[in-house]
Amino acid sequence: MPAALLNLGSVSIERVEESSFAALDPFEVYPEVTAELLAANAQWLMPRFLDAATQRLILSFQGFVIRSGAALIVVDTCVGDCKARRRPGFDKQRWGWLARLEASGVSCDAVTHVVCTHFHVDHVGGNTRLRNGQWVTSFPNARYLFPRLEFEYWSSPAGIRALERTGDYMTDSVLPVIAAGQAELVAPDHAIDARVGLRPAGGHTPGSVIVDVQSASQRALLLGDVLHTMLQIRYPDWSTRFCMDAEASRRTRRAILDSCADQDIWLLPNHFPAPTAGQIERCGGHYLWRYAGEGTLAGFPGSST
Ligand SMILES: [Zn+2]
Repeated sequence: MPAALLNLGSVSIERVEESSFAALDPFEVYPEVTAELLAANAQWLMPRFLDAATQRLILSFQGFVIRSGAALIVVDTCVGDCKARRRPGFDKQRWGWLARLEASGVSCDAVTHVVCTHFHVDHVGGNTRLRNGQWVTSFPNARYLFPRLEFEYWSSPAGIRALERTGDYMTDSVLPVIAAGQAELVAPDHAIDARVGLRPAGGHTPGSVIVDVQSASQRALLLGDVLHTMLQIRYPDWSTRFCMDAEASRRTRRAILDSCADQDIWLLPNHFPAPTAGQIERCGGHYLWRYAGEGTLAGFPGSST
């Protein structure tokens, strides 16, 4: 078993990466970004968060494993293998994430719960795998906890139209779970056990949730896409073009950053590069990020390092 990323009392959290690469053009992601702003932040952005050669933002795509008592919980299942997608970097890839999960000591058969923080292409793909030309569930003994609002939106005419942008992941990665009888449509504050539960975090998508882990007075929040990149620590009001309600997304992000700043609370934004987990500090009128085991980011405005 790999060393856990975080140990909170009796609960451990591990990350299993599918990929990490210079995935996104910042101008595709953020309406407010300018060449001048990128240049002003170049010292801390490069090379860890912005690839100098391509000028693209470096994102991790990953899932998390929470071990809590008898529960073995997978949170978000990445892009997945062999899935037909519009974005070339996602299209019919073979990342081998499920094999990596198994190699890390997590038997797919032993997983008890799968949580999708939201139904975007890079959070549901590993829900299913191809077997004899059919999409079958990757975790045959798990309950898949789908936020009810999220399922209802992506099953609506507007949601189905929105799938044209990315490829129809509902058909290959969500509906087979329903057909297998393994899905549970849950409330945004659903409790998995006494230590792990969901919290509503709408904005990025209508039914987005985060996962709240509390054990032995320690706490971690698995944030899904409330934050996409470190630029949103610098500019917390920036929502992405992928956020369906930019204003609600901003409110959700601000509320979480405000309530977690200067607290002993670990934040795990799904796409932050390794080691992903960090804590937030308030510094004057803005925020600083401190990765687990590191100081604040060198060159970040207000950082002492
Ligand atoms: Zn995402």
